[in-house]
Amino acid sequence: MMLLSSKNDSSPKFSLDVQHFLYGREYRAEELPFSEKVIKTHIKNGYVAIRPAVELLKENLLDLLTGRKKWQCRRCGNRDQEAFAVCTCARCRKKCVYCRHCLNMGIVRSCTKLVTWSGPAPKAWASVNSVARLCSWNGILSEEQTAAANALDQALAAGYSFLIWAVTGSGKTEIIYKAIERSLMQGHHILLATPRTDVVRELLPRIRSAFPSITVSGLYAGSDDNDPQAQLVISTAHQLIRFSDCFDCVFIDEVDAFPFHYDPMLEFAVRKAAKPGAPFGYLTATPPPGLRNAYLMGSLRGIKIARRYHGHPLPVPLFRWIGNWTRFIQHGQLPKTIHEWLMEKKKQGCQQFLFVPTVTLARELTEILQKEGFERTAGVHAEDPDRHTKVAAFREGKIRTLVTTTILERGVTVPGVEVAVLGADDPVFDACALVQIAGRVGRSPDYPEGDILFFHNGKTFAMVQARHQIEQMNKEGGF
Ligand SMILES: [Zn+2]
Ligand SMILES: [Zn+2]
Repeated sequence: MMLLSSKNDSSPKFSLDVQHFLYGREYRAEELPFSEKVIKTHIKNGYVAIRPAVELLKENLLDLLTGRKKWQCRRCGNRDQEAFAVCTCARCRKKCVYCRHCLNMGIVRSCTKLVTWSGPAPKAWASVNSVARLCSWNGILSEEQTAAANALDQALAAGYSFLIWAVTGSGKTEIIYKAIERSLMQGHHILLATPRTDVVRELLPRIRSAFPSITVSGLYAGSDDNDPQAQLVISTAHQLIRFSDCFDCVFIDEVDAFPFHYDPMLEFAVRKAAKPGAPFGYLTATPPPGLRNAYLMGSLRGIKIARRYHGHPLPVPLFRWIGNWTRFIQHGQLPKTIHEWLMEKKKQGCQQFLFVPTVTLARELTEILQKEGFERTAGVHAEDPDRHTKVAAFREGKIRTLVTTTILERGVTVPGVEVAVLGADDPVFDACALVQIAGRVGRSPDYPEGDILFFHNGKTFAMVQARHQIEQMNKEGGF
């Protein structure tokens, strides 16, 4: 094993292998490929930190009086007491508490130790002096995008977090290039976190071609490009649980999206993956209340972009009542209103997304459409093994109609696509989701318009709210 010594020979040494393996990551002690002696020496000299994986939470008075113990998992952040269980531990031979919430990553018990690197960072990847430019994207930013890119870059460079509150189709990705480039020049390790696998897959080739000389990896369940030590890591939140104190600068794309605002574990994972004090860049069309209020109160810096980069207004959703439409579907029929709309679109040669509330409906509707002679129709949902192939075929125009659950509400951009939501009144479609779905339409400068229809059996508050938000943004955008 190679040992690195510092200039001052009396100072302790650390192993480059251990540094390379542990930097920015978190492992259970038993997962390390090093001897106990090596790790102990590193701990003694302050290069490696170790902490219990499952800990007692500080007790409050009530817990003290009732003698109740509360646990928390330091790996996944779980504090739900129902998700802890007791086992007779084969290793320490005591009764150990373990976390069930992150069990699929290997068990962590109250006697398990988590190990992280606490020594110096590896040599920076990029040298400030040797490269003039890292970003080779040559597109032109709109006035609004330029202002946002500059403000974001300045805030992050000064160590402040920043919110980009931008309408769908405003070109958010290009806005962050300037800040990414500057951060890379400083030798930083950058994270671009997003809630969905589809978004990682969409961003990966774009970021790679914009920054051809750096290492970029995409982490999602089943990905091959998963080098955790790439200079820029694009990752779903789930994949970040193994990181610790790793990233100097973090961007969260679509911060409002499921599962971020439902699962506190994922927020915990992103926070843990960032270095302490690392600034965050939040990108969203519909900020969650916490961020929106922080921005409006002035405690979070940010900027609002109310116009799409091509300068056209957002298409406003139209409501169409279709009664008890699921009964038709169950009988293998298509409601007349939907049939008419689809025939019209077929004549025009349009591609369309049909959003439905459930996997079953996606399956049934797809079958009916195929039977009714709407050729080149396919259905997708989260667990569909052919999901990526179908989305790719849709992008290439080989599939004309894609029936989908909410999994494609964001991230997937297809020029000229039109959209209908069947059962827009279903609770699965909250205002946020409906704004995102509407945002699929009219993104391309060649096709800035298009239908966005909410088929429903009774208007909901979420539908009205979504339409209001879109009209409001159009107003702010000067339309
Ligand atoms: Zn856990
Ligand atoms: Zn034990």
